[in-house]
Amino acid sequence: MIYQASPARYAEMEYRRCGNSGLKLPVISLGLWHNFGSTDPFNQCRNIVHTAFDCGITHFDLANNYGPPPGGAEETFGKILKQDLSAYRDELIISSKAGWPMWPGPYGDLGSKKYLIASLDQSLRRMGLDYVDIFYHHRPDPDTPLEETMSALDLMVKTGKALYVGISSYSAAETVKAADILQGLGTPLLIHQPKYSLLDRWIEADLLQTLEEKGVGCISFSSLAQGILTNKYLNGIPEDSRVGKGLGNGAIQEEQISADTITKVKKLNDLSEARGQSLAQMSLAWVLKDPRMTSVIIGASKPEQVIDSVRCLDRAAFTAQELGLIEAALQ
Ligand code: NDP
Repeated sequence: MIYQASPARYAEMEYRRCGNSGLKLPVISLGLWHNFGSTDPFNQCRNIVHTAFDCGITHFDLANNYGPPPGGAEETFGKILKQDLSAYRDELIISSKAGWPMWPGPYGDLGSKKYLIASLDQSLRRMGLDYVDIFYHHRPDPDTPLEETMSALDLMVKTGKALYVGISSYSAAETVKAADILQGLGTPLLIHQPKYSLLDRWIEADLLQTLEEKGVGCISFSSLAQGILTNKYLNGIPEDSRVGKGLGNGAIQEEQISADTITKVKKLNDLSEARGQSLAQMSLAWVLKDPRMTSVIIGASKPEQVIDSVRCLDRAAFTAQELGLIEAALQ
């Protein structure tokens, strides 16, 4: 099968400017943390990526350790790129990251320049790319001077291996320091990638305001709480769900889903039905209602989930009363 992108791919998607940069991102991006390893059926991976691009999702989020095995998702994506998407490279924003354990020894983890530069070179080889659009430091490293980690990101941009740089899961205070160091080096911090959902609100305390003040974009992960904020776990654990499959590598497990969470999710599900949308759609629309959010990275195990999630844009606005009812459901 030869892939031809849908001519209508830009008709429905909304694109938001990322902080003060010139780059616009789709409000829905696709992440390849799970379901794109070398053990996942290649045609399924391919269909999910095609469906996403046909819906106007121009941004694909990867990391060195996504798989299984680590590196597997970048290899899968590299194959799809080569086979189907090479003609569309200039329509794509591809990101990768390093910061979690990747290879044995002292140079395959955390935030040293040695690790980050070597890891990006490996990611480029696996994906068959000359450059990534965004490269992230994946998590803060308290033992490496922030100046060293940020100068590694700056070097990637100066050597043309990355166009923009970002950080993930840094606190507001760490973000200010990182942004200031990068500013001094002449490579602005483009974006921050935090966890954010109806069930995890930590960024509301101070990070969102910090990002706005610094002109940095925000792209959230696990905004469906790995699937909990959908209707699939309301009556037990389906076998073909992320929990049911027991994926490992940070995937949610049964013991992390409490009865209290399911009670809240049931109330949220009733509210989403009253709005005429799926709980997944309401959860994504809720994250995107804040204009400081540039994009939400969704995960998907099936192409149909991408289509369902993108339709959150059909009913994106909330009344004050709906927002009040959502807060009450979460108490
Ligand atoms: P989500 O919270 O979006 O969870 C995705 C899972 O939810 C899917 O695999 C699927 O699970 C289920 N799902 C998705 N859409 C629907 C739908 N419409 N209806 C029903 N079920 C649905 O995101 P992830 O936790 O997967 O994270 C998304 C991305 O964020 C990652 O791929 C990665 O790129 C990034 N990320 C970044 C991190 C970081 O540290 N920077 C950490 C984690 C993620 P099922 O298998 O049950 O069908």
